[in-house]
Amino acid sequence: MSSSSSTASRYVDSYYARTVAAHSPRPALTQSRETEVCVVGGGLAGLSTALGLAQRGVKVILIEARRVGWGASGRNGGFVSAGFSLSSRQIVKDLGRQQAREVYDLSRDAVGLIRDRIAAFDLPGVPVIDGRMKVLRYHDPEYLARDRDFMSEVFGVESELWSRERLREVLLTERYHHALYNASGFHFHPLNYALGVAAAAESRGVEIYEDTPAVWLDLESPEKSVQTVSGSIRAKQVVIACGGYIDGLQPALAGATLPVATYVVTTEPLGEDIKRAIRVPYAISDTRLAGNYFRTVSGGRILWGGDITARTRAPRHLAKQMIADLVSVFPQLTGVQAEDAWMGLMGYPVHKMPQLGQQAPGVWYCMGYGGHGMAATTMGGELIASAIAEGDDRYRLFARYGLQWTGGRIVGAIAAQATYSYYQLLDRLQESRSTA
Ligand SMILES: Cc1cc2nc3c(=O)[nH]c(=O)nc-3n(C[C@H](O)[C@H](O)[C@H](O)COP(=O)(O)OP(=O)(O)OC[C@H]3O[C@@H](n4cnc5c(N)ncnc54)[C@H](O)[C@@H]3O)c2cc1C
Repeated sequence: MSSSSSTASRYVDSYYARTVAAHSPRPALTQSRETEVCVVGGGLAGLSTALGLAQRGVKVILIEARRVGWGASGRNGGFVSAGFSLSSRQIVKDLGRQQAREVYDLSRDAVGLIRDRIAAFDLPGVPVIDGRMKVLRYHDPEYLARDRDFMSEVFGVESELWSRERLREVLLTERYHHALYNASGFHFHPLNYALGVAAAAESRGVEIYEDTPAVWLDLESPEKSVQTVSGSIRAKQVVIACGGYIDGLQPALAGATLPVATYVVTTEPLGEDIKRAIRVPYAISDTRLAGNYFRTVSGGRILWGGDITARTRAPRHLAKQMIADLVSVFPQLTGVQAEDAWMGLMGYPVHKMPQLGQQAPGVWYCMGYGGHGMAATTMGGELIASAIAEGDDRYRLFARYGLQWTGGRIVGAIAAQATYSYYQLLDRLQESRSTA
């Protein structure tokens, strides 16, 4: 990391922390402060809300338990695309075509807003690398064609189907059979983006305190109070945006998302050697529920992610496990070493859709983004900001997906783990039946 103080929380050891753009830790809150809106949580959901509010002239204090972007927002795959964790087909079933299109368009606008913010605020260390590709691990030429046609007809998304021959010229593996390419998605450095949004928010007057967990909330009276370890904030409104790291804060919210772990590894720099396996700069993922995603990052490193588990402790040999996973797809990379391997927690609601709303007058939540949060948190932040500042009620488009109890950290985790294992089994069966 380029700058940190000895007392500030450290970012998890990751490729992103290693390549972070210059920034300084922010102080912890040590006094009593007053503001219009207090945002709790400095991930992309909280930061986007804070920036959106500040751009609308609202006075905001944001507190973050560790560091800005310390959670999922600063350690994810860096894929930015429209849509949500829940499949688009299921959203159409739930909401009908028209409303499904409205919520999809909101997420698509957020992809554009991220691009605009990177350019408008000239965010450091956030080059945008265009191109998003989905690959299929079994032979079914019709599967992705149906997907392409559905997305085009219902959401107006245009994508290109790649044959096996074309695909294998750029991804040198026999694992993948066909691909769907979409030019509007991109990938970037998520920690630098989160830090950039924080700096942009500060430039608009937002106060940010790091190493400042909210430890107690008094949200009953018209004036809310947020207690931290060595300070407090009185605010007219509070926004809770703690993602999968919410822990015990606000039981009704904490009980409505399950922290789910997922892993990432980056290889040593491979330079030109990477072309033995990967010859495109796109953000690539397979279509399995708990599938893999990967992209190339600086120095010809491969950033490889995957696995979903309700067990929230990293396995002992994480780097080895993830490299073995990579090599199972690209056996020509046998012997490649890991440089960093890390874990992150995603907040998953049972319905896999963002949770946006008001728990009580002036008490807002912006969470539940699961594994598809880069554009969706940006969208959620905008919706909550415009709801608070302008009375915009579009956040209600997500009302169907509320604060359902997940079953708790033990029962919910067991149920989720059983579901993931079941889907993994289905994925394996489908692949083993593939003949071509
Ligand atoms: C490994 C991994 C890979 C992923 N890959 C992608 C991807 O490629 N593309 C994509 O779109 N999505 C991806 N996701 C999902 C995406 O990162 C998340 O959906 C998104 O970052 C959630 O943002 P958030 O702000 O809700 O949560 P977070 O970023 O987790 O932020 C929550 C913050 O709240 C803070 N907090 C918690 N409790 C308190 C408290 N009491 N007081 C103050 N602060 C508190 C935490 O410290 C944390 O910083 C991935 C997630 C992971 C973990």
